[in-house]
Amino acid sequence: MRLFSDKIMALKTKTLEQARPLFAKIDETAEQNTARVLAAFRNQQISEYLFRTTTGYGYGDSGRERLEAVWAELCGAEKALMRTQFVSGTHALACVLFGLLRPGDELLAVTGAPYDTMQTVIGHAVHTPGSLKECGVSYQEIPMNQGGVNLDLIAQSINSNTKIALIQRSRGYSLRKPLSISEISAVCAEIKKHRRDCICFVDNCYGEFVDTVEPIAAGADIMAGSLIKNPGGGLAPSGGYIVGKSDLVEMASYRLTAPGLGGNLGASLADSRLLYQGLFLAPHVVAQSLKGAIFAAILFDLLGYKTLPRFDELRSDIIQAVELGSPEKMLAFCQGLQEYSPVDAHVRPIPGPMPGYTDQVIMAGGTFIQGSSIELSADGPLRPPYIIYLQGGLTFEHAMLGILGAANAIDSI
Ligand SMILES: *Cc1c(COP(=O)(O)O)cnc(C)c1O
Repeated sequence: MRLFSDKIMALKTKTLEQARPLFAKIDETAEQNTARVLAAFRNQQISEYLFRTTTGYGYGDSGRERLEAVWAELCGAEKALMRTQFVSGTHALACVLFGLLRPGDELLAVTGAPYDTMQTVIGHAVHTPGSLKECGVSYQEIPMNQGGVNLDLIAQSINSNTKIALIQRSRGYSLRKPLSISEISAVCAEIKKHRRDCICFVDNCYGEFVDTVEPIAAGADIMAGSLIKNPGGGLAPSGGYIVGKSDLVEMASYRLTAPGLGGNLGASLADSRLLYQGLFLAPHVVAQSLKGAIFAAILFDLLGYKTLPRFDELRSDIIQAVELGSPEKMLAFCQGLQEYSPVDAHVRPIPGPMPGYTDQVIMAGGTFIQGSSIELSADGPLRPPYIIYLQGGLTFEHAMLGILGAANAIDSI
């Protein structure tokens, strides 16, 4: 079956040749992470009877408790919350901030402007009712420089009110590099050097299982993320997680439920097998999406586009940015990718307004789980220099076909 032009098919062969040695490293990480997951499942004695739903308050929900123990162990942490009651990653991140910050405290973002949806939670750049700003929490932001986090500015910015330092691992929708685990470790050490009791909080979205160590094991106190990204393995139907030091996770849990209740309540309404099995698959699925990202980086490099990261650069998240240079090419990329989606392949993505964005945004993603970005998806705001952000892919075969579809569509305009 011939799907694409001769030119694209020739580039596919060349891309795969160039990718092979890079894939070997990805496979090694997936193997190590799978071994870590298996060890945690063994230590926590995971059995089939834990895969059931519970009702009402959800007291004594052993399926929920053991899943959280597995995730805590995998992160090298004392305690975890991992559940579908978090509506998204933003909700989990917000529970940490609202759980730990009090009026008069200061939040210090050390990796530049946080992810778009965190802006409304913080409320300093965008006025939002109910934000941290409205609760009397002050805010400072340290821009990143070319080399990464500006360690000198951390020393100058920390003051007696600085309660939390927010460290975003992933690039999000910006062009800055993601932080590696060793960079996160150095940033946490620098913060602790100036104030031992400043809480190092990592937004770990898109970073899970890209390395064989998570930020808590590298010195962070608490972190949060989404289950419809990496750690859900494509099977978790919804949810998020918080993991870290016991007392901090406990305080955050009072914002998920209520003060005094915390994490002891919350029925497993969704089949908890999906969270267990998703976590089991996650190292492999993350590897599939990383291979897709590398494939895209090589292919679009061969086609003459600027890619970020470059194909052979160290990765610490699953996002691949490609600078396309025109709105027409962004549209073609998304429409080409969408045609090779398992769901909504007949739909043509068009740009539209999005809350929190000043420019129109285009998105492609025919996913089984609504908005899931561990499944193959692409998006970006329509503004110069017209960058598309690509991520996910449950299987490498699908990621490759979608990326070839996108390249073919761009090449035909
Ligand atoms: C996705 C993401 C979030 C928010 O997660 P949602 O599940 O979309 O609410 C926050 N921070 C970063 C870096 C992200 O990539």
